[in-house]
Amino acid sequence: MTDELTTEVYYDDDADVSHVTDETVAVLGYGSQGHAHALNLHDSGVDVVVGLRKGSSSREDAKASGLTVKTPDVAAAEADRVVMLVPDTVQPAVYEAIQDGLEPGDTLQFAHGLNIHYGQIEPQEGVDVTMVAPKSPGHLVRRTYDRGEGTPGLIAVYQDATGDAKEGALSYAKAIGCTRAGVIETTFKEEVETDLFGEQAVLCGGVTEMVKVGFETLVDAGYSPEMAYFECLNELKLIVDLMYEGGHMEMWNSVSDTAEYGGLTRGEEVINREGMEKILEEIQNGEFTREWILENQAGRPSYKQYREAEQEHEIEQVGAGLRELFSWGEQQEETEAPADD
Ligand code: NAD
Ligand code: MG
Ligand code: MG
Ligand code: MG
Ligand code: MG
Repeated sequence: MTDELTTEVYYDDDADVSHVTDETVAVLGYGSQGHAHALNLHDSGVDVVVGLRKGSSSREDAKASGLTVKTPDVAAAEADRVVMLVPDTVQPAVYEAIQDGLEPGDTLQFAHGLNIHYGQIEPQEGVDVTMVAPKSPGHLVRRTYDRGEGTPGLIAVYQDATGDAKEGALSYAKAIGCTRAGVIETTFKEEVETDLFGEQAVLCGGVTEMVKVGFETLVDAGYSPEMAYFECLNELKLIVDLMYEGGHMEMWNSVSDTAEYGGLTRGEEVINREGMEKILEEIQNGEFTREWILENQAGRPSYKQYREAEQEHEIEQVGAGLRELFSWGEQQEETEAPADD
């Protein structure tokens, strides 16, 4: 067994924060990632200006935290590095509004590669195009930084006009705390395709579907919805915690031998590998992204329908009731981002 990694990990000593402390950085958006990046940069001594629309409810928040707020076009024009932290679906429109403020030698930076990789934003020549993506929700990016720690992150370079694009990305990663935990280099293509695959096939789509169908199978066979909820949803957290701490073996070592034998011999039955490969193919050939762009242009009709069906599923009603009756004894970690507009 080896624990050698196939990729280099960058830490604080590999990055020079003066690259970004010499810049003015425009952080566009003040949501989950935006507030965390802006505040961490500010505390690291970077000259930050937050770009928000007039009337955005986040403006007061940002100002109350001591940050300078301007409209996105003005912020971008003043800045040497423009960081796109508005929702992925509105980034192309925001780019239209700010692109004239990008001069040769400036950097356009993302935290997710969707719009660049699928050609929804085609940046001009002469600017560096990079990514710095914490592998964590924004509130943890902020909270860990405050404690002198950090969250792991990714960097990538799509366009290197200055020859310094990677150095700049590492410097930014240091200023928001990511190199305290470790940063690895990827490409826009790899980041987007693996991110979409993970959330669709495993983390968000795969897991919820498995939980729902497991619940339905038990309930349809006459078992009580409460028992089905505990077995198929509530216990999931305990299993995931063990996997997170020590991989599959830690989990298998902690459950009973019966659970281990049953799981090892039966798990395969529920997974559809061909379905996963189809999901990956539709990500790679752009079919998923095309569908999502059209869905947005049409006002999200299917998205709303799917959400409604999810909300009305029996597991939601049973779960809400049970979570109220039982105290699971530990304070849930706060997970909300600051209020959006
Ligand atoms: P968010 O939805 O939490 O926040 C979006 C912000 O943009 C809000 O402050 C909103 O007021 C502002 N905004 C919305 N429309 C705007 C407009 N037209 N003009 C100006 N501002 C506007 O977004 P987020 O989850 O922080 O995502 C930002 C980027 O970070 C995305 O590319 C996302 O993929 C990436 N990312 C997110 C996470 C995460 O955990 N949330 C993790 C890694 C990367
Ligand atoms: Mg500029
Ligand atoms: Mg992801
Ligand atoms: Mg994602
Ligand atoms: Mg059990």
